[in-house]
Amino acid sequence: MVETECRTEVELRRDLVRFGRMLHRLGFMPGTSGNLSVRLDDHRLLVTPTGVSKFLLRSADMVLIDPHGRPLNGHRKVTSEVSMHLAVYRQRGDVKAIVHSHPPIATAFACAGRGLEEMLCQEAVMTLGVVPLANYATTGTEEVAASLAPFIPDHDAILMANHGAVSYGSTLLQAFQKMEVVEHLAQIALAAHQLGDPRVLKHEQVKQLRDAKTRYLQNAT
Ligand SMILES: [Zn+2]
Repeated sequence: MVETECRTEVELRRDLVRFGRMLHRLGFMPGTSGNLSVRLDDHRLLVTPTGVSKFLLRSADMVLIDPHGRPLNGHRKVTSEVSMHLAVYRQRGDVKAIVHSHPPIATAFACAGRGLEEMLCQEAVMTLGVVPLANYATTGTEEVAASLAPFIPDHDAILMANHGAVSYGSTLLQAFQKMEVVEHLAQIALAAHQLGDPRVLKHEQVKQLRDAKTRYLQNAT
């Protein structure tokens, strides 16, 4: 998978189908839940339609909208949760793709009023850091965008109270992988607490890991 900006609209439609299927198979998008989007350019977004299983979704089903959520073409209605996507694109010029899903363990944390804030394993520090919990908001309303807004600038994944999670990146692959990691970290946190007496990483250990991450990112670029 190459960077989003190098991919044509046809390829991005196929990517939305492919990652939708993968998320469905993982159990993150049961029924018709969840949605995905990509930014084609400054004026156009491609978003999954409302009420369609991500297992059955086809390239032609995607809805083209402007940055205000108005449809530009497509025979289907855009996802009812589009305002969440618009809020992220508005605040983050670097974001080109978004995944919203209901991964079961991460969603259970969101239903228990808990973000993924403890640095229990090294991977948590090296990947997403803290995954905060946004306040409760009724799905499909502007409340959702407002609840996410404080966290969007400094986080690439956010839990949504009594609802699910949203993740984003410069490609759909990145957004997908972050959603995978959110669920993975939630499973580890749950198991560590079930085992009892979880050992949270010490401040100095977290600092060393952050330094290592910075060095790794510098080498990678
Ligand atoms: Zn949802």
